[in-house]
Amino acid sequence: MSSHRPDAVVVGGGPAAGAAARALAAAGRHVILLTAEDRSPYDRTVLSKDVLLLPGATVPEVWPAGDPWRERIEVRTNTTVASLDPDARRLVTASGDVVPFESVILATGAQPRRLALPGADGEGVHYLRDTTDAAALSQALDHASRLVIVGGGVIGLEVAAAAATRGVDVVVLEAADRVLARGVPAAVAGWLCALHEAHGVVVRTGVAPDAVLRSPDGAVTGVRLADGTVVPADAVVAGIGIVPRDGLARAAGLAVDDGILIDPTGRTSHPHVFAAGDAVRTRHPGEAHGIRLESFTAAGRQGEVAAHTVLGQDDAFTDVPWWWSDQYDATVQSMGVAPAGAREEVLDVPGGLLVLSVVGDRLVAACGVTHGPGIARAVRVAGPAIAAGARLDVGAAHAAAGDLAALTAVLRNAARPH
Ligand code: ADP
Repeated sequence: MSSHRPDAVVVGGGPAAGAAARALAAAGRHVILLTAEDRSPYDRTVLSKDVLLLPGATVPEVWPAGDPWRERIEVRTNTTVASLDPDARRLVTASGDVVPFESVILATGAQPRRLALPGADGEGVHYLRDTTDAAALSQALDHASRLVIVGGGVIGLEVAAAAATRGVDVVVLEAADRVLARGVPAAVAGWLCALHEAHGVVVRTGVAPDAVLRSPDGAVTGVRLADGTVVPADAVVAGIGIVPRDGLARAAGLAVDDGILIDPTGRTSHPHVFAAGDAVRTRHPGEAHGIRLESFTAAGRQGEVAAHTVLGQDDAFTDVPWWWSDQYDATVQSMGVAPAGAREEVLDVPGGLLVLSVVGDRLVAACGVTHGPGIARAVRVAGPAIAAGARLDVGAAHAAAGDLAALTAVLRNAARPH
């Protein structure tokens, strides 16, 4: 084919796209990166933290400045891909440009699930996904005195912390019977709820909003619950989950099922198309459902894996899922995914707690929270033990709980062959 065909095109503007482009460029490939946003791939995790708290906080790019491989990445911002023809190996942008490729990595991410309620469309109801959303929400917090947050997930609680810190009265409305029911042990969720309540946040569980109320001039005045009661508000944030942006792949005829289906090497159902990040669902051979991992760390690593596969190198995403959340002075750290029915060992550690999830005598997940970053190390070192399906000496873990360094040693030793 023509010598003008670029080696690889990456579509996206987050950590998966950034890591994919970086790995390709570092291997000497010329890369075109197409992103609908107005900047190079950046770290979204700060949007619900520093950006809401510190006016003027910068949003870090995922690429360190000054690296020589950056010159091999041609970033085209404000560029939305309208269609993909995998057999002809070309993309068409919304403005009609045709971009040929040898391989394409789709890292199109996800979008917030919309609040499908009367009154929910329009000014005053916010979502948080990109820098534009964060700027709008931060500005709203300058003026709001009462904020209702729909959804007690990670986004909802991080926004609650930022808003409460800025002096806004916050009510969190969670439909389930507790917050953070997806992937966070009840003990950690309860610890965080108490922290929010100590900061004046009202957390209401088991409540379903059924309308956003507005004044005749359209301003938000409150959220009505299913029982008819009204929670007053002058701004609303919905953090009710994300939906993978898999429409481009679906329209191109790729296998999609609530996420672009990939194998652990980043391959889709088409040999010239690869995918990574929040847009994908990874299915191991023979597995029915697969898994969607919504985390910065997984997205970056998946982007790198997809690039290595494009480069013909052996690689696969086998990492133990790891994520963190910062709320007030507390940090939550989570490693691994506990299956339903796992036994939870709750350890009181200095300044917080750690939940070790165990199946049989094998450690499958660790999730902890402390004031300050104290728990981070213990949870991180649990990764290799979880990956190895190591036996956990539960008695030793409990005995060491009062001393984080000793507990960390127990978790590190669990991964060593006995
Ligand atoms: P996010 O990334 O947006 O935080 P999560 O899945 O971690 O997503 O959390 C979303 C939370 O929103 C869950 O706790 C879920 O139970 C809750 N939720 C979903 N829909 C509603 C709703 N209509 N009203 C209140 N809470 C909701």
